[in-house]
Amino acid sequence: MKLYAPNYYKDFHCIASACKHSCCVGWEIDIDKDSLSRYQNMTHPYGEIIRKHIEMQDDTACFALTQEERCPFLKENGLCDMILNLGEDSLCQICRDHPRFRNFFSDREEIGIGLCCEEAARLVLFQKEKTEIVLLSDDGEKEELWEEEEALLSLREKLFAILQDDTLPLSERADRMLQEVGAEPITDLHVWIKRLLGLEQLDVAWQKLLNQLNTQERTPRTLDLPLEKFLLYLLYRHLPNAEDESEIRATVRFACLGYLLIKTICEKTNTPIEEAARLFSSEIEYSEENTRTLLELLA
Ligand code: SF4
Repeated sequence: MKLYAPNYYKDFHCIASACKHSCCVGWEIDIDKDSLSRYQNMTHPYGEIIRKHIEMQDDTACFALTQEERCPFLKENGLCDMILNLGEDSLCQICRDHPRFRNFFSDREEIGIGLCCEEAARLVLFQKEKTEIVLLSDDGEKEELWEEEEALLSLREKLFAILQDDTLPLSERADRMLQEVGAEPITDLHVWIKRLLGLEQLDVAWQKLLNQLNTQERTPRTLDLPLEKFLLYLLYRHLPNAEDESEIRATVRFACLGYLLIKTICEKTNTPIEEAARLFSSEIEYSEENTRTLLELLA
């Protein structure tokens, strides 16, 4: 099996105590089965502290958040008490992995970092080099891609090339990308904003931002590159999940809707692009229900 990632992936490091929107606040932390059994059988004295914070929700074990919605192990200084006592290997899978996401093909795994993390958003949106998908490791096992997977990956490569052709304005590149997959453009953004306001609400800051989109300013030209990176990120992350042509079209429209929305937010409010992208990611991408609803509406 091969492991691929975007070329910026290896530069990601969690900024822990310097993080303003820590993923250890406000998010449910489910515990995977292997970690749960490790915690249940832990003989280290800290095991008792860990077990005290585990609760069952339906059939899933998770760490009970404090009244302030903080992970019980998050210290006031922003550091993780479990890591301080037992090291990083003691974390459950979701904490070890976040903000990484993975997509699987028959011969490879692809890994990336999600924009809901402010440090990942900075890294993804402000890298200067062209985005490329690079091989990180290969265990030497010979596996073949299915024909459909090969077609999807080569389509994504083509879309990457269209988006990174900086001889054209970004809006034209986005239109070409839609044409390439035969998808309709997003014409009525105000209608989409209304629909977005009707989705599952996770962070009130996102709703506030959408409600502010009523003044007129131009996007500074300097935003073209981070917006291009945002589109590339959405394609890298979501296109592998498209199972047929209609889902491919919906996914490319999803990327264009995200692009138009973030561009409009930056034009009409003073929100920095990395904050707008972070909110989009945590509100839409990290709610399966919201992502599914939008993809259905865009199909
Ligand atoms: S959101 Fe990102 S930078 Fe912040 S604590 Fe989580 S992983 Fe670290």
